[in-house]
Amino acid sequence: MDIAFIGLGNMGLPMALNLQKAGHRVRGLDLAPAQVEALVAAGGEAARDIAHAVQGAQAVFTMLPASKHVERVWLGEDGVLAHVAPGTRVADCSTIAPEVARRVAQAAAGQGLALIDAPVSGGTGGAQAGTLTFMVGGDETALTAMRPLLEAMGRNIFHAGPSGCGQTVKICNNMLLGILMIGTSEALNLGIANGMDPKVLSSVMAQSSGRNWALEVYNPCPGVMDSAPAARGYSGGFGVDLMRKDLGLAVENALASGAAVPLGALARSLYDLHSQAGNGALDFSSVFGMLGKKG
Ligand code: NAD
Repeated sequence: MDIAFIGLGNMGLPMALNLQKAGHRVRGLDLAPAQVEALVAAGGEAARDIAHAVQGAQAVFTMLPASKHVERVWLGEDGVLAHVAPGTRVADCSTIAPEVARRVAQAAAGQGLALIDAPVSGGTGGAQAGTLTFMVGGDETALTAMRPLLEAMGRNIFHAGPSGCGQTVKICNNMLLGILMIGTSEALNLGIANGMDPKVLSSVMAQSSGRNWALEVYNPCPGVMDSAPAARGYSGGFGVDLMRKDLGLAVENALASGAAVPLGALARSLYDLHSQAGNGALDFSSVFGMLGKKG
């Protein structure tokens, strides 16, 4: 299949490469030339602009930073909707506000396109390994048509409900993750302040009622887990600023929907402070250091 892939960043590039590995022809577009060159080096094609990217494509994917980029790329004067043929399979995999996902899908529907929101979980490791989880909002038939392509990039594909529901699930999940990372960091730092070996403490809590993914798979304390970003100076992984963005989406959504998210709001403020101290590009588990006893 001929596929247009717009947004070849930390996530988009490995996702596009997995589509190629599955035998598809990918034409990629990104503002950063190095990202496009990496796709071309692996046998892909460089698009000159959006019109060129989607020309003749049977499927279009976008994997962009935030809502405003998605609005611009899909709805802009020279955007995807201005050029893509009716009936093309279309998906946005970025994490954005559910209401923006719905608005863009509505505009797409007006042109005979069933756009699905398909944000992902699993990080850059999952994107490279092709083991992402897709949380899909939109028409079931559109998802069925997209499924073989999503399966080239992911392992679990969930239909969350109508348009925007994929984004709602993603926001709920990441709010919980952000809170759990801070809670896990607090507990570990409390133990360390009392002379505990964090490895011992982690292994006991992992078998007790405090067990959670941040503790067991992504332990924030350096020296506990070789595979976690904490073992490599919190480089790579999922950035503090991306977590701030997702918590911001959760807090804004709670305001609009009348839900109460006091811990989500507090977590957002703590990551804000951590970012302001110059840590925005580090993995979000680096919040462990901010909470540690100084001196
Ligand atoms: P990234 O910043 O590495 O990549 C985004 C890419 O989009 C960049 O290369 C940028 O140049 C490109 N871009 C921006 N505007 C563009 C435009 N108008 N035309 C073409 N390209 C454009 O971000 P990422 O880590 O790949 O994340 C992408 C999305 O996936 C975000 O919404 C993020 O929240 C979500 N996400 C990220 C992770 C993760 O671990 N990094 C995990 C799950 C979900």
